Amino acid sequence: MASLIPCPHCGLRPKEEFSIRGDAAPVRPRPDAPFDAWDAYVHLRDNVRGVMHEHWQHVGGCRRWLVVERDTFTHAVHAVTDAADFTRAQGAPTGGGGASAASGTRTGKGRAKR
Ligand SMILES: [Zn+2]
Repeated sequence: MASLIPCPHCGLRPKEEFSIRGDAAPVRPRPDAPFDAWDAYVHLRDNVRGVMHEHWQHVGGCRRWLVVERDTFTHAVHAVTDAADFTRAQGAPTGGGGASAASGTRTGKGRAKR
């Protein structure tokens, strides 16, 4: 059976219609932030085994950026939110498509120790 993603705008759609950008947690540093902050933002990611928030774009549908709460071990999708709504809920300003502006938080559920 195909994996299905519940797009909040288009309904239940096959995962092949989506493109994944990755971890939604990193917050873009200010333009004048130190080199280390930019280095961490661009290069460092947690390798989560469990539930995490990821940015996905519905490229084969509405083209909106979404935040998908997914278990990276079981591939079970727990929740899907429009990235702009997710960012608003986090209290951060939106703009520029929402994906890069999302502040992102993690549930921490099921995360493996490093
Ligand atoms: Zn859609």
